[in-house]
Parts: sequence; structure tokens; C-alpha cells
Amino acid sequence: MNGTTPAEALRRWFRQHGRRLPWRDDPAPYRVLVSEFMLQQTTVAAVIPHFHRWMENFPDTASLAAAPEAAVLKQWEGLGYYSRARNLHRAAIAIEKRHSGKIPRTLPELRALPGIGPYTASAIAAFAFDQTVPVLDANIIRVTARLFDFRENISTSSARAFLEGAAASLLPEKNGMRHTSALMDVGATICKAGEPDCPRCPLRHFCRAKNPATIPFKPAKKALVHLTDWRAICIQKNHIHLIQSNGPQWKGLWLLPPAEPVAKPLGTLKYAITRHRVTLHTVSAHPPKNATPFPLDRLPAMPTPHRKALAAALK
Ligand code: SF4
Repeated sequence: MNGTTPAEALRRWFRQHGRRLPWRDDPAPYRVLVSEFMLQQTTVAAVIPHFHRWMENFPDTASLAAAPEAAVLKQWEGLGYYSRARNLHRAAIAIEKRHSGKIPRTLPELRALPGIGPYTASAIAAFAFDQTVPVLDANIIRVTARLFDFRENISTSSARAFLEGAAASLLPEKNGMRHTSALMDVGATICKAGEPDCPRCPLRHFCRAKNPATIPFKPAKKALVHLTDWRAICIQKNHIHLIQSNGPQWKGLWLLPPAEPVAKPLGTLKYAITRHRVTLHTVSAHPPKNATPFPLDRLPAMPTPHRKALAAALK
């Protein structure tokens, strides 16, 4: 057996197989905070280059809090779901004002910061402050549900309470960071969605799952919605004319103005956002009155599909 308890088995496995990640190699609280905001809805591989660039531009809460929102959004470009950037910015301002620039350690204080829900608060407590608290991300939910052969719908509040209790029962007395990292890594690399690789799993001797590929159970997803969006490429004297979004989608970002459909678009690209599948067509047009010109070599923060549509039109 790999250890006398799941925590012990995870500890041994992690020493050899744990992933090296920039926010683990140096888990300063601000680095953990930034990584947790970026990792909401974005994969580890996609986050890493953005994380390094962010740290060069905003190395601490003071520099982030002092930055104008336009610069923060520009720096977030490519990660999507810009409300995270806005919340991270607001959290940095709150940390500067309320906590003299020090990221708080307790769950209630963390929860009181903008953009920090129960998951992010417990992840920061575990990764930045080494606390032994249950952290339920998608990987840990999957591993825990399988370990306990939990076959109910995981999206209910009673399921959540069960999984939190189950995850808490696995915790060691100390070293919350290592334990949580190990559990996450087992989920990301071995106990994956679909068929897990049980023979390689350090927890196999503790696992009760009889048919792990069917766990966790989630209700069927809502149907996809297909949309078509027409946008104008308005270029005059090396300036592109853009309009600022008032939200809710892409609030504060600069968009290509809406356009009337034409028989032959200038360009077409497709992108997905939540359950929407969007076909974006561009047309060449005169700028609308409410548009603002920007030099083509100094673009403001734009959502990725609009930036790509502009780049394709400029080719
Ligand atoms: S034994 Fe298999 S199902 Fe159980 S936790 Fe490990 S990988 Fe997942």
C-alpha cells in the first residue's frame, strides 16, 4: 500500500509526481491570488504565459491597485471573461485600503473581497497560507466523488455539503498546500474526466468507485445556441474606429461597431462563448458617430474575437 491514509499516499506521490507551477514554486499570497483569478475558467497551460507577463507589469497589489482599469483590461487580453480582471483590480484596491496591502488570511476576510467566492477563498487559504481547508475545484470534486463512490447529481447543495465533508475527512493535520496540490494533480493527470488511469493512482487502495467513468454525475447540459454577428471594420488614416461596450458582455472593452449584413462579408470567424456558438462576419464601412478612433499600432483592450477579426481584415 502507498500509505496508511489517503493523505499519506498523496504526500508520497506528490514528492515525485507533483506539477511544477509558477505560483507553487513561489507561493507568495499575491501570486496565488492572481493565479486563482486567472484559473477560474481558464486552463493551467493557457494561464502560465499570461501569469508571467502579469507579474512583470503588476508585481504587487500596490501597482495593480494604482493602475487605470483600461491598463488592467489590456493586460488581461487573451484570457477572456473580463469580469475576473475587473474583480481582481477591485480586490487589489480593497486589499490596499482595508488590509494595508497585505492579503488577509481568514476565509471570512477573503470572502469579503470582490470576486472571491467560497472556492477561491479556500484555494488562497490552502495555497498561500498552507491552511488545511477543503478546496473543491472540478478536479478535486471528481476525485472525491469517485473515492466515495458518490453517484448523485453533484450540482445540488446537499451534494456539495457531502463532498465538502468527504474532502475534509481526507485532510492531514498540516501542509494544506501540499495535500490540496496533490489531490488536484491526481485529478488533472490520472483521475481524469472519462476513463481514469486507476493502476497509476496513489489512492487506488482507498477508492470505492465501481464504475468511475460515470462519476461525477452531472445533469445534461443546455442545448447550444447558434448566433450570427455582423461587425464593421472602419479604418481611416491608419486609425480603427471602435465603440466601448457598456456590458454586460465585455463591459469596458472596445468592440468593432455593429454592421448591417451584406451579401459578401469581408471576413468570417467562429468562436464559442459559454453555450453560444457565434459566427462573426465583418464588413468594410464608414465609422458611426459614436465611435472613437485608435491608432492601429496602439489598440485598446479588445475581446479576442474582435481583435482577431480586425487582424484578419488588415492582412
Ligand atoms: S482509483 Fe481510479 S477512480 Fe479512484 S481516485 Fe484513483 S484514478 Fe480515480
